[in-house]
Amino acid sequence: MLFHVSDAESASDASNNVGQLLLQLQGLDTAADQAQHRKANLAERETLKSVAESVIAWEKRCTELTAFITSSEDAIARAEQQSGEVDAKRSRLREQLKTVIAPREAEALQREIAVLDEERSTLDEEALIKMDEQSSAEDELSALQAKEADLREQASTATTALAEVEAAIDAGLVEIGSHREQLVSALPQALVGRYVHVRAKLGVAAAMLTGSQCEGCHLDLSPAEVDDVRRSPADVIPDCPQCGRLLVR
Ligand SMILES: [Zn+2]
Repeated sequence: MLFHVSDAESASDASNNVGQLLLQLQGLDTAADQAQHRKANLAERETLKSVAESVIAWEKRCTELTAFITSSEDAIARAEQQSGEVDAKRSRLREQLKTVIAPREAEALQREIAVLDEERSTLDEEALIKMDEQSSAEDELSALQAKEADLREQASTATTALAEVEAAIDAGLVEIGSHREQLVSALPQALVGRYVHVRAKLGVAAAMLTGSQCEGCHLDLSPAEVDDVRRSPADVIPDCPQCGRLLVR
């Protein structure tokens, strides 16, 4: 509820009302601070961040595996081609061996064939290892691809959840803002100036005096200070002598 200070009201009522308006203004500003803090520390943002990281890691791994599979295929093809060349060369040498009579020449050919046998078996081993690695990569890639829909769904859900909670907080802040404007226009400008100045330093600028305690700093005022505050002119909002906040009686 808004109070408007009018000339018709007694000075005491006016002070009381101004004090109440000031406390309402403080209440709104505190609520806005809390909403901003909540908005800056949303669990939904952390969730989205973690899902987004999973998506990035997923995409990176899929790209790595795809590249690895392609390079394995190339390596296997190269090994097969080399094996073919070795086989052809070895067949030629074996044919040659059948026609050779000189033992030295036959030995030289046999040594050459033995080297090719070695080369061929190395190529086979390499190709087998590559095929094995390629098959593992393909299995891992299929498993990852099976998770894609679920991962994308999680990302979309987390994005929506964050947007919704942010929109709700923003709507609350807009409402607070318009309520605040009404309050500020109902308060004396100089008082709003003091309030803004203290709030910039202390966060909470207006506080109730309850008994002898300032609810801003929770310190007790001396009996003389309480007297000063209570006896200050009705239209004056005094400062807390301890913390400097605007003290509402
Ligand atoms: Zn105080």
